[in-house]
Amino acid sequence: MSFCIQNKCAHCCIEADVPLLNEDIDRITAMGYYDVYFVVNHSGLRIMRKLEGKCIFFQNGECEIYERRPFRCRHYPMTFDGDKNCAAIQESCRFKNLYEVTMSGNQAMIDYIVQLRHEFELRTSHKEQK
Ligand code: SF4
Ligand code: SF4
Repeated sequence: MSFCIQNKCAHCCIEADVPLLNEDIDRITAMGYYDVYFVVNHSGLRIMRKLEGKCIFFQNGECEIYERRPFRCRHYPMTFDGDKNCAAIQESCRFKNLYEVTMSGNQAMIDYIVQLRHEFELRTSHKEQK
């Protein structure tokens, strides 16, 4: 069970901006959703669309795509500390004292940031038309 469900909290489904990897988008479009429905281009970074202040997939208090949710959502409340160049626990998490970043979690977050930056650079240098 995910940390957030365990703590009965969906705060980030309302508050967070969720960056999307290409593989996140592919996984969700494979469910039948068009990318224009849920992807917003934010100065080259692709993020999850919000509707009325909440993630577009947050319906009736639940995630509609839970099994295929983006990497970022799978690793709440872990985030990336750009100054220290490593994973950290997001300050805004109400349950941050109950969570610890593991070595494998740290590596997964670093790999995620590297991939996100790589895709961003490809997109903004016009090497990718997607
Ligand atoms: S995709 Fe699901 S888990 Fe992620 S923010 Fe949206 S509703 Fe929450
Ligand atoms: S990361 Fe923390 S604040 Fe965000 S949904 Fe999970 S438990 Fe709630």
